[in-house]
Amino acid sequence: MKRVLLTRPLPDRVVEAARTHFEVELRDDPAPLKLGQMRGALALYDGVLPTLGDMFSAEVFADAENPRCKILANFGVGYNHIDAAAARGAGISVTNTPGAVTDATADIAMTLILMSARRAGEGERMVRAGKWPGWNPTQMLGLHVSGKTVGIIGMGRIGQAIAQRCHYGFGMDVIYYNRSPKPMEFPARQVESLEALAAQADIVVVAVPGGAETHHIVGSSVFEAMKPSGHFVNIARGDVVNEAALIAALQAGAFAGAGLDVYEKEPIVPEALKAMENVTLLPHLGTAALEVREAMGLMAVENLRAFFAGEIPPNLVN
Ligand code: NAP
Repeated sequence: MKRVLLTRPLPDRVVEAARTHFEVELRDDPAPLKLGQMRGALALYDGVLPTLGDMFSAEVFADAENPRCKILANFGVGYNHIDAAAARGAGISVTNTPGAVTDATADIAMTLILMSARRAGEGERMVRAGKWPGWNPTQMLGLHVSGKTVGIIGMGRIGQAIAQRCHYGFGMDVIYYNRSPKPMEFPARQVESLEALAAQADIVVVAVPGGAETHHIVGSSVFEAMKPSGHFVNIARGDVVNEAALIAALQAGAFAGAGLDVYEKEPIVPEALKAMENVTLLPHLGTAALEVREAMGLMAVENLRAFFAGEIPPNLVN
C-alpha cells in the first residue's frame, strides 16, 4: 500500500476515503508545513495531500534528489503555493480540485459585494457597540447594487459563477477582463485593460489565479481608474493585488469600499485595513462549508488513487 501524508486535519469522510486506498499519515496540526517538514514529506511518503500555506517552493524541490514522493494532490483549486514547474523537474506530479469550489467561492464574492456596497460590517459593528441611534432616512446610505455594472477580473469557473449570480440575481451588466474570450449564455462584454474595466464598473471583483503571472496586476492605476462610488472585492489570492496600493487608494477615498477574503501575507491583515470602516474583512472563507471541503478532499483522494493506479489523474496541472 502506498504511504500518503495528509498535511492537515480534514473532514472524516475524506480521511476515510483516503484510508480505503492508502496507508495514511494524518498530521494533526492545522498550521502549514515548515520547510524541513516539506523536505521530510517528499522523502518519506509516496504521495502528499497538501493545501494552502504549504509553500512547496523551488527551494524544497531543489534538495530532493529522486524523492519518494511522486505526487502532490493539492486540496484546493489555487495552487500558487506550489512551484508546479519545479515539482515537474523533480519528477513530481501536481493536481488540484477545480469545480468543487466554484459555487461556494462565488457565494462569498456575493457576500462581500453586498456587505461592502450596503455597509453591512460597519452597521453590524455599530449595533454591537450600542451606538445605533435608531432608523432615519439618511443613515448609512450605501450603493444599490441592482442594475449596476460588475467588472470581473478572471472570467474562469468562479468568475463566470459570479457573473451568473450578478446577471440573473441582480440584473447587473457584466464586463470582464480575461486572457481569452469567454462566450457566455447572457451578455458579458470583454474589455481590453484592467483600467478600462475599473473605469466602467461599479463593482470590481478579482477572480484570477495567484502566482508569478498575475502578481500585483491590480495596483494603483486600477484603483485610480475606479469610480468614487465603486467597490472592490478580492476572493482570489492576495498576491494579485498590491495591498499597499489598495490601502493608499482607500485612505485617499479613491473609491467607496472594499471586501476582502484573501490577503498578501495571510493570516496577517494590515492594521490600516482593519482601521477603515468601509473595508469588509473575511478570513479566507471562500470554500468554508463542510460539504464543499468534503468534495474538495474526495477529489484530491481520487487524483491520488488514479495516479497510483497508473492512470492520468483527472486534475493534473503540471
Ligand atoms: P479558472 O477556472 O482557472 O479561472 C481563472 C481565469 O483567470 C481563467 O479564465 C483564465 O483565463 C484567467 N487568467 C489566468 N491568468 C490570467 C492573466 N494573466 N490575465 C488574465 N486572465 C487570466 O480558476 P477558478 O476555478 O475560477 O479559480 C480562480 C482562483 O480563485 C483560484 O486560482 C484560486 O486562487 C481562487 N480561489 C479562492 C478561493 C477562496 O477561498 N477565496 C476559493 C477557490 C478559489 P483563460 O481561460 O484564458 O486561461
